[in-house]
Amino acid sequence: QAKRLGRNTYSFFSKEMNAKMLRRFKIEEQMHGALERNELELYYQPQFDVKSQKIIGVEALLRWHNIELGNVTPDEFIPIAEHTGLIIPIGRFVLQQALSFLYELQHIHHKKLTMAVNLSPRQFRDAELLSFIKKSLSIAGVSAEYLELEITEGVLMSGQSHIHDALIEISNMGIKLSMDDFGTGYSSLSYLRQYAFDVLKIDRSFINGIPASKEDCELVNTIIAMAHSLGLMVVAEGVETAEQLSLLDKLNCNLVQGYYFSKPLPAKGLLSFLVD
Ligand code: C2E
Ligand code: MG
Ligand code: MG
Ligand code: MG
Repeated sequence: QAKRLGRNTYSFFSKEMNAKMLRRFKIEEQMHGALERNELELYYQPQFDVKSQKIIGVEALLRWHNIELGNVTPDEFIPIAEHTGLIIPIGRFVLQQALSFLYELQHIHHKKLTMAVNLSPRQFRDAELLSFIKKSLSIAGVSAEYLELEITEGVLMSGQSHIHDALIEISNMGIKLSMDDFGTGYSSLSYLRQYAFDVLKIDRSFINGIPASKEDCELVNTIIAMAHSLGLMVVAEGVETAEQLSLLDKLNCNLVQGYYFSKPLPAKGLLSFLVD
C-alpha cells in the first residue's frame, strides 16, 4: 500500500498544477537572461490633475516580451523576480531607465512632469538601494523632488527593521513617497502617519465600484477625507469612465490615472501623447 502511494505521489499534483509549475519554471528560466537580451521595456501611464485635467506626471510600468513566452504581465513575473532576487538588477534597470526618460521629458521636451517608480519589498533588502538611488539621480541629472517611489503595505509588513529608516531617508532626500494599492492590505492610518508619505493611491478595485456601489463610494469618500486630513495628495487608480471622474472630482480627489485618459504607453507613444 505504501509503495503504491509512493509511486503515485506525483499524481497529487493535478494536471493544472503541473502546467502552472511548468510555466513558473519557464518564466524563472527565461527571466535570467531577460535584461541581457533587452526584453524589458518601460511603459508610462499619465497621471492627471482632476481640476485642470492636465497631465502632471507618469508612472513607470514594466513590460516583458519574451520569444518563447510572449508577453508576460508584471502581476505574473514581478512576484517571481522578487522570489529569485532578480528584482534587484531588474529594479535598478527600471530606475535608471525611468530617470533617464524623466531627464528627456524635462530638459528636451520641457515638460515638468513627475516620475513614479514602483519598489517591491525585496528591493529594500538591498543594502545599496539608497546609494543606488542617489547615484542614479545624479547621473541622470534630475532633481529628487520629481521622483516618486511607490510602495505597498507589503513593504511595511515585510518585517525588515531598517524599513523605517530607509523611508525617512528617502523622504529626507526630497523624493516623494507614495502608498500604492491603498485599501487592499493591512492599510492603516498609523502607517500613513508614522512614515513620511506624500501620496496615497486608492486601489483600482474601489474605483471600479464607483459610482454604482454605495459602499465603495462611501469608502472612497472616507479615504480621500482621511488622506487630506493627513496632508496627503490622493491619486485614484484605474479610472475608466466619465462618471467615475466626475464623482472623484466632487469628492476632491487630486489626481487620476486610468484607461479613461490613457493606457500605459511606450516612451515614444507618451511623447506623441504629450504633443497631440
Ligand atoms: P500598480 O503599481 O498598482 O500599477 C497599476 C496597474 O493598473 C498597472 O498594471 C496598470 O496598467 C493598471 N491600470 C491602470 N489604469 C487602469 C485602468 O483604467 N483599468 C485597468 N483594468 N487597469 C489599469 P500593470 O502595468 O500590469 O502592473 C501591475 C503591477 O505590477 C503594478 O501595480 C506593480 O505593483 C507591479 N509593477 C509593474 N511595474 C513594476 C516595476 O517596474 N517594479 C516593481 N517592483 N513592480 C512593478
Ligand atoms: Mg504603482
Ligand atoms: Mg496600484
Ligand atoms: Mg498593484
